[in-house]
Amino acid sequence: MLKLEDSIEKAPGVGPALLKKLKQMKIKTVRDLIFHFPYRYDDYTNIIPISNLKINEVCTVYGKIISIETVRSWKRKIYITEALVEDKTGAIKALWFNQPYVSKILKKDDFAFFSGKAVSGKSGSYLSNPSYEKSKAQADLIHTGRLVPAYSKTEGLTSKWLRFVLRPILLQLKNSIPEALPPGILKENGFPGISDSLWQIHFPSSEKAARNAKKRFSFEELFLIQLFVLRERNRLSKEKAFPLETDVELIKRFVSSLKFKLTDAQRKCSWQILKDLEKDRPMNRLLEGDVGSGKTVVAAIAALNTAKKRLQTAIMAPTEILAKQHFSEISRLLQNFRLDIGLLTGKQDQFRSRKLKNQVIEISRKKLLEKALTGNIDILIGTHALIQDKVIFGKLGLVVLDEQHRFGVQQRAKLVRNKVIIPHLLSMTATPIPRTLALTIYGDLDLSLIDELPKGRKKIITRIILPEQRKETYEFIREEIKNGRQVFIICPRIETRVPSSGKLPEDGTRANSWNEVKTVKDEYRKLKDEIFPELKIEMLHGKMTPKEKEEIMQNFKNKKADILVSTSVVEVGIDVPNATVMLIEGAERFGLSQLHQFRGRVGRGEHQSHCFLFTDSNSPKTKQRLGALIKCDNGFSLAEKDLELRGPGDFKGAKQWGIPDLLMDALKDMQLVEKTRQSAKELLQKDPYLKHYPLLQQKLSEFRARIHLE
Ligand code: ADP
Ligand code: MG
Repeated sequence: MLKLEDSIEKAPGVGPALLKKLKQMKIKTVRDLIFHFPYRYDDYTNIIPISNLKINEVCTVYGKIISIETVRSWKRKIYITEALVEDKTGAIKALWFNQPYVSKILKKDDFAFFSGKAVSGKSGSYLSNPSYEKSKAQADLIHTGRLVPAYSKTEGLTSKWLRFVLRPILLQLKNSIPEALPPGILKENGFPGISDSLWQIHFPSSEKAARNAKKRFSFEELFLIQLFVLRERNRLSKEKAFPLETDVELIKRFVSSLKFKLTDAQRKCSWQILKDLEKDRPMNRLLEGDVGSGKTVVAAIAALNTAKKRLQTAIMAPTEILAKQHFSEISRLLQNFRLDIGLLTGKQDQFRSRKLKNQVIEISRKKLLEKALTGNIDILIGTHALIQDKVIFGKLGLVVLDEQHRFGVQQRAKLVRNKVIIPHLLSMTATPIPRTLALTIYGDLDLSLIDELPKGRKKIITRIILPEQRKETYEFIREEIKNGRQVFIICPRIETRVPSSGKLPEDGTRANSWNEVKTVKDEYRKLKDEIFPELKIEMLHGKMTPKEKEEIMQNFKNKKADILVSTSVVEVGIDVPNATVMLIEGAERFGLSQLHQFRGRVGRGEHQSHCFLFTDSNSPKTKQRLGALIKCDNGFSLAEKDLELRGPGDFKGAKQWGIPDLLMDALKDMQLVEKTRQSAKELLQKDPYLKHYPLLQQKLSEFRARIHLE
């Protein structure tokens, strides 16, 4: 008997050639194959007599092959297979282009089904490249005369081949696939059981049945996440942490030492964090705040309070430049509070000591690690260098992760490794995640929101720029730079590559053809040689080494260049207050959240800033999307809008979880997200350890392994 875990070569009909192609597609087991879902169905259900054929209408006919032959067309240098098919009502030609094997399968006098479209040619109408299937009972058809599944094609593995192997496998497995969802949930939602659902996914009896089956799997994925997150939350609530009583006097002193007044939102979030720190179980809080909302100072408050109790804080940033930025910002914020602060990046480690009167000194890695181990460092800031095995904190009380979605979950686990007493965790992100989504993918974290920007910030002027306005915009930029400002220019790609398929990229936008997409390298050259020959221009992209990138960013920060031409790598929190123009080429190619992040790179200083969205696309959809950016400067509303317009594909946080496409799709359906959360809660109330659901238990451990060990 075939089992789900069986290697795919055990399945009937899988020979060496097919096996090789399946392996290339990472389909290794029977399970992998049957969970490889079609992306659409061709509706060939309309079976009609040949005399009823209409031009350009998709349909199926059944008839006898009167003649069939393959010839090579010398003019077009391709094989053409031509058959004449007849039924009681008439006859029609069928033509296949470059599929010479058809005449090896279909022979004269065979009866067969043909599905596709009739088109009119020079010598009468014909079926063009129809799907075909030799005579059999209608219920057994898989390529014609029904809803026929189409799978994304890779490595020459055709849908036809997949249908051919899938059918016998599904028939064999029928009734032996274990059901993970509780019967009550199936019933309540009107979902078919697992075997039926799989059958309906691949060979649906109707569109509706296919949709319902797909929904069942979406439900299952979401349901698992919800169970996981709720149980994780439960588990964490039983862990122990050092309770850190709030030193109200100290915090007040810190707040009044600041050059600015905290916003109400910053106060509220700081308060929530301080309250969490007082508990004897670990805080798990996500601090969400738009770019520039002032998250760093909130983190500083938490670190200060932690240091007061002689415990250490680790602050992890996604890049070296951001780690350095944090080091100088936090050192500056806390300069009157006599703390030892270290920077561990990978190369130049630095240390700032109270004994040395706040001087920053270079320090050897060894010394720095010693200090971390003996507890003689209050705050250690770094990149992922912080989670190397050699870095051991003597008394770690608090972990702060900036832009944690770039790290994924396993790094977080690494920092708390082997600890009986778990440090508190504060995660910060500027990626605005709509609340429902956050609850799902970060459901084990509590949420604090900085939902206002510091007062007095100038609104960034955002404009859509059409090709005819390019020149005047360049003049504007020249003026800005003359006045001492700096400019970012973002391009969608690094360089023009003709993809091996020769096809356009499938990135969902069709506004430009491949060659018209602006690339960093071309733009850099053009700007340097033709448009701004008098200015200093630098280029930045993801193919450079971290060291190169670092240097260029640092140079730009230090005003050694006027214009930085870059791909989306500048997106993360880099702070260049002197930059006042953000120009985005091919703006229609980016998601709203991402555009908003780009825009957040300017408007950080005292000068009026501008964001120019360059686009060649005049489509209403582009106008609507980019228009939203002009109207709205709130990252959260834009994220909601993005979710509505593009789905959750932009949320890197979700991607880091290794979330499969199916789930990404499911996350779009907020009602389903809500519903699964409710169902998961109810089930856990009845059966907290899922004792009655061993299969769910197993799936959860698999899920945990997947996100922790990836
Ligand atoms: P982000 O949330 O993007 O990390 P930062 O913490 O880097 O933002 O803060 C952005 C800038 O705003 C910093 O220069 C910081 O000193 C400043 N800032 C933070 N809070 C306030 C405030 N309440 N009023 C004025 N400026 C503030
Ligand atoms: Mg920041």
